[in-house]
Amino acid sequence: MALKVCKFGGTSMADGNVMNRVKRIVESDDDRRLVVVSAPGRRYSDDIKVTDTLYKCYYEVEKTGSCGTTFAIIRNRFTGIVKELGIDLDIKYVLDETERRINEEKSRDFTASRGEYLCARVMAKLLGAKFIDAEEVIFFKENGIFDGEKSYRAVSRAVEGEIRCVLPGFYGCGADGRVKTFSRGGSDISGAIVARAVNATLYENWTDVSGFYACDPRIVSTPKVIKSLSYKELRELSYMGANVLHSESIFPVRKANIPIHIRNTFRPEDDGTLIQPSVYYKPSGRVITGIAGKKDFTVIFIEKSLMNSEIGFIRKVLSVLEEQNIPIEHIPSGIDTMSLVIESARLKNGVLDAVLQGIKQAVEPDVIRVTEDIALIATVGHGMSSSVGTSARLFKAMAQANINVKMIDQGSSELNIIVGVKNDECEKCINAIYREFFN
Ligand code: ADP
Ligand code: ASP
Ligand code: MG
Repeated sequence: MALKVCKFGGTSMADGNVMNRVKRIVESDDDRRLVVVSAPGRRYSDDIKVTDTLYKCYYEVEKTGSCGTTFAIIRNRFTGIVKELGIDLDIKYVLDETERRINEEKSRDFTASRGEYLCARVMAKLLGAKFIDAEEVIFFKENGIFDGEKSYRAVSRAVEGEIRCVLPGFYGCGADGRVKTFSRGGSDISGAIVARAVNATLYENWTDVSGFYACDPRIVSTPKVIKSLSYKELRELSYMGANVLHSESIFPVRKANIPIHIRNTFRPEDDGTLIQPSVYYKPSGRVITGIAGKKDFTVIFIEKSLMNSEIGFIRKVLSVLEEQNIPIEHIPSGIDTMSLVIESARLKNGVLDAVLQGIKQAVEPDVIRVTEDIALIATVGHGMSSSVGTSARLFKAMAQANINVKMIDQGSSELNIIVGVKNDECEKCINAIYREFFN
C-alpha cells in the first residue's frame, strides 16, 4: 500500500481558510497519512511569520524575563485561527502553557519551535488525527547532529497502527533533553525524516509555488517550472539559494530512494516538480536545469611565486581556517595563486583580520588581497557535461550584460559552473544566464 508523507509550509498554514484547503487536500487521498507542518507564515506580503515573532519573544524574555507583550501577537493569531476553524480545542489553555514554558525555559530554540508545535496541535484537531510531538521522536546527538537511527525508530513506533498523524516540523530533542531546532526552513528536513522513518512511497512538499522553478521567481518573472530533477541537482540548487526546499532535506530520503514531489497548495491541479533519486533519473535533453545565487561572500586571494612546488602550501593555508572553525565554499587555484571563497558572516568581529594574519604567518605570501560583497551564482544541470560550449554561452551572456566575472569554479562533478560577481549584479547575472538558456 502506498504511504505518503505531506509537509505543508508556512503559507499553507497562514490562516483558517488555507488550513481548510489543506484538510481537503489531505482527506482527498487515503495514502496521505502523515502530515508535517510549519508555523503559520505570511498572509500578505508585509505580514510577519510566526517564527519571526517568536524569535522576538525570546529577545523579550532575555531582556525583561517575560515574553508577554510580543506573545500577545502569537496569542491573537492562534486564537483567531481556532475561532475561524470552529474546532473544539482549548487554545487558551494551550497558549497559557506555551507562554509559561517560554518564560521558564529561556531557550531560543524552544521559543522558536512553538509556532510548529501550536500549528500541529491545531491541524491534528482539524483532521481528527493523532498529534505526535517532535520532541519525543526526533533526536540530536551530543555534537548537535541529527540522530537518524534513534529518530527513525521512534517515529515508526509512534505512528504504528494510527490512521493519520500530524507532527510539527523544525525541531526535535537535543542530547541535553531540551528542544533543539534545525536551521531556518527546517520543516522540510523534518518531513524528509518522517518519510524515511516510515519508508514512504512519496514525500509531498506542499508550498506556495507550482514546483521548483529554473530560478528564483522573485528574480526572474515567471520562470519555467522544472518538471523533474535529480537529488544531486536539487542539492546544488537549494544549497546555492533556491530555498523552496531546505538543502539538507534530501539526505534522509536519498538513502531510501524516496522521491520528493513539490506541489502548490493553492493550485493542487498543477503537476509540480518531481525530484528523483539519481538511479531513476533519465536525461531530459536539456543543457541546464536551473540557476541559483547567494550573496555576501568574501574572496581572499593569495599569490606566491612557486606556490605549486611548495609542498604543504594549501594545507598550511587551510589549517588557519580550520583553527578558526571556518568552512570554505570554494578554492579556485592557479599555478602561483589560490583564492578562498568564504561566507562573509563567518568573518565578522575581527575574524577576517585574524585569518589574514594567520595566513601571512603560515605561508608568507607575496600578495594577499580581500574582495568583499561577492555573490556566487550556480548554473546547474546534468546535461552540461555532454554538451559542448556551455561555459562559452554562459560567459558570452554575462559579457553582453556587461557583468564582470570575479571568480570561476567548475565543480568537479561536472554538474555546475559557479561564477562570482559583485553582490549588486547578482540579479542581473541570473537574468542574463536565464535568457541565454531558457528563452
Ligand atoms: P514554505 O513556507 O512552503 O516552506 P518557502 O517560502 O520556504 O515555502 O519556499 C517557497 C518559496 O521559495 C517560493 O515562494 C519562492 O519565492 C521561493 N523560491 C526561491 N527559489 C525558488 C525556485 N527556484 N523555485 C521555486 N521557488 C523558489
Ligand atoms: N518556521 C520555521 C522557519 O520559519 C521552519 C520552516 O518554516 O520550515 O524557518
Ligand atoms: Mg520552506
